Amino acid sequence: MAAAVVQRLFCFPEKTSTQRRLTVAGPFLMNEKYHVRIDKEYLVFSAGHFITYDGDVCERLHGHNYRVSAEVHGPLDENHYVVDFIALRDTLKEIVDQLDHRMLLPTQHPLIRVEADETSVEVTFRERRWIFPLGDCILLPVPNTTTELLARYIGQRLIDGLQARTQAVFDKVRVGVDENFGQWGVWEWSP
Ligand SMILES: [Zn+2]
Repeated sequence: MAAAVVQRLFCFPEKTSTQRRLTVAGPFLMNEKYHVRIDKEYLVFSAGHFITYDGDVCERLHGHNYRVSAEVHGPLDENHYVVDFIALRDTLKEIVDQLDHRMLLPTQHPLIRVEADETSVEVTFRERRWIFPLGDCILLPVPNTTTELLARYIGQRLIDGLQARTQAVFDKVRVGVDENFGQWGVWEWSP
């Protein structure tokens, strides 16, 4: 009897079916999830903007050195990856480059009026008025050029670009825009 007790004390407890499944290597499991994240030092753009806040307070024109990162969540494809890193990198870099060294202007702001002709853009906010060369500006379909809405704009364009380039299936896409060394606005989308 004593020997049986000692033997039981030194035995590992029997695994439950859940514990067994957690230690199995090989077949992919239903509860596994994958995502890829890209956060490169060259995914940056320098741009001018101004936003409004508290209803009708309008900032002075200024600029930021923005940084962009992205995550794509989804199932593994036949290559065993969520999305081709090269496609993700190149698509995001193209979007970022188009924003670099530009004046970012919102076309859906209720108080900032943005009117473009063939060569220039006139922007007015109450008694204030700015005129920019058209080629120096990006007119964004957003109500305010906050980092959150810049992340949304970049994210939607990223999804469009990846869908054109790859067969990737997305469970979730997350894009972050940093405007000042750790001040991130993040947009997240799920179908
Ligand atoms: Zn700013």
